[in-house]
Amino acid sequence: MPIEVSAIEGESGASLRAIADTIVDGVLLIDSAGKVLLFNSACEKLFGCKAVEVIDRDAESLIVEAQRPRFRELIALQREGKAPEAGDSDWLLAGQRQDGSQFPMEYSVGEFQLGEQAVLVVVVRDITDRARMEQELRDSEAQHRAIIESAVDGVVIIDALGSIRLFNPACETMFGFSAQEVLGKNVKILMPSPDYDQHDGYLRHYRDTGERRIIGSGRTVVGRRRDGATFPLELSICETEQGGTKVFVGFVRDMSERKAYEEALQRQVEDLEMARASLEDQGMEMVLLAEELAAAKEQADAANAAKSSFLAAMSHEIRTPMTGIIGMTRLLLDDKLTEDQRDQAQTVMDCATTLLSLLNDILDLSKIEAGHFELDRQPFDLKTLLESTQRLWAGRMDEKGLEFRVISEGDIPQRLVGDAPRLRQVLFNLISNAIKFTDSGYIEVTLSHDEPDDGTVALHVAVRDTGLGIDAAVQERLFEKFVQADRTITGTYGGTGLGLAICRNIVEMMDGTIGLESKLGEGSTFTFTVHLARLSKSAMIVEAAEDETAEGEDEAGAAVDARILLAEDNLVNQSLIRSLLQRLGYEIEIANNGKEAVEALRGGAFDLVLMDSQMPEMDGVTATKEVRKLEGPAGSVPIIALTANAMVGDRERYLEAGMNDYVPKPIEPELLDAAIRRCLRAKAA
Ligand code: ADP
Repeated sequence: MPIEVSAIEGESGASLRAIADTIVDGVLLIDSAGKVLLFNSACEKLFGCKAVEVIDRDAESLIVEAQRPRFRELIALQREGKAPEAGDSDWLLAGQRQDGSQFPMEYSVGEFQLGEQAVLVVVVRDITDRARMEQELRDSEAQHRAIIESAVDGVVIIDALGSIRLFNPACETMFGFSAQEVLGKNVKILMPSPDYDQHDGYLRHYRDTGERRIIGSGRTVVGRRRDGATFPLELSICETEQGGTKVFVGFVRDMSERKAYEEALQRQVEDLEMARASLEDQGMEMVLLAEELAAAKEQADAANAAKSSFLAAMSHEIRTPMTGIIGMTRLLLDDKLTEDQRDQAQTVMDCATTLLSLLNDILDLSKIEAGHFELDRQPFDLKTLLESTQRLWAGRMDEKGLEFRVISEGDIPQRLVGDAPRLRQVLFNLISNAIKFTDSGYIEVTLSHDEPDDGTVALHVAVRDTGLGIDAAVQERLFEKFVQADRTITGTYGGTGLGLAICRNIVEMMDGTIGLESKLGEGSTFTFTVHLARLSKSAMIVEAAEDETAEGEDEAGAAVDARILLAEDNLVNQSLIRSLLQRLGYEIEIANNGKEAVEALRGGAFDLVLMDSQMPEMDGVTATKEVRKLEGPAGSVPIIALTANAMVGDRERYLEAGMNDYVPKPIEPELLDAAIRRCLRAKAA
């Protein structure tokens, strides 16, 4: 249908335009052919062109090109009376400005009769701002959704009645429900009792009173998973509005791991606390134990001291009669006897000697245990020591039909400094054992030496026998005290199991070691090393000079005619020593105690005194001190201590009191004679 332009060109047209121009929104009229009939001033602003430029042109030119077919469709629909509602987003169009720019356009279309024409009136509005705002809103919503969807913490939104509106994936993982399962449901399904039963009440209370319980503050509550399991969760809630209604946004965090960690930590703290307490207890116990130990040690020390002095006393008591037995038997053996008598006397001698050696072992052991075992350092001659050892055993070897060999390898220094009696004791013990446990074959003592950097002489000794041998199982323990290889043979061979323990002690004190190699049935080799000092050249020269004088005097020794005073309370010993000295050609007088001895010296002239140590009235040490106070030759008479007190330090004590020498009991005639000669010689010099 042709457009009746006049319809809006006349007077009524002008007023129509005037009305249209007052309208804020853009208004345009389109005739049935799609041409623009009216274009108000709001449209001019919207489209950026004048009405004259648009009038009579196709209205679709005001639409972006791509949407023109859609525009035509819209017009057609309108004609059919089926036009979409204003603002329907499906039919949104974009306006095309003359400068080429576009704008989103909201519009409404109506139809009315203008004269005979059905004219379309289109009201247009630029919704650029709204569209932007809507887009921004959509973006921000998307952002929020993305945050909520990807949040590590669970986010759940409920309405004022407790119905779940949002349930993010973190919540799904946490509670085991899918969002679909819970949306629209009461949030209490996520709670165990009693919260399950009381939650509606909480909400009601809040609605009615506005009194907050947990809103705005975080707290730990218990959640319930889909499978019914409960777990600790931290919950904080905020209140907001959504679509004009009040909603509550809950942020939840599964605290199971943290709680387990905290519990483990707590347990560790408790364990540590317990450990600390138990350590404290142990510490206390240790202190108590240490105190008990100290008390026990004190007791043990006291007991040990008592034992040592008991042993010293016992040894004195036993040695005194032993002196009698051995001395008298020796005298007896020197007399003319029948063969039977000699055998019997020899048996007495053997038994007494064994008893004495046992006594010595026990004494040594008590010294070792009391820590009183000390070594002497005196010059000695190795050759002499070996020869005397060889001599000592020669008879016994012959008796058993054993061969005795002593082999010295290399140029061993002969003049040495050390404790010769103790060295002899070790040799004595090993050889005595070798003889005891060997019935045929030989016993061989091999000596060698080396000189380490420390300036000592390391003397290596091996005592080898072809006897019983020792079971490997006991070899290692043999050097412990009271250990014997085979107790069943103890009856046959006797012994206490102390000898080797004492040997080890002596050897170790001489900075050495002791060991053995043995095979049952084939024999044993005991080896030991001791460190000794070499005698200095100057000491050797002095010694050589002394030896010369000694030899000279010794030759005349047989002719010594000396008057000796014996101070001794024991009658057996008096008679024994008297016989001994008389046989050696000395003249002798007896004093029964120290006091008598001092008196005798005041009254008469003596060349020498033999002084027992323990005597009634006045002991030997006191008597010696008294003698040394005497005027004239009596005050300087040589005094030899005779004593069964063989404890360490005795010798020093006697020498300190003013005695000149020392002879142990039981008395060895040779030792006594040698001591007497030494003292007389010194006196003469
Ligand atoms: P005792 O000889 O007094 O028993 P020892 O300590 O000297 O004590 O010796 C301990 C044990 O070692 C002896 O009882 C013996 O069984 C064993 N023994 C020592 N030397 C030998 C040896 N040469 N041959 C075989 N057995 C030996």
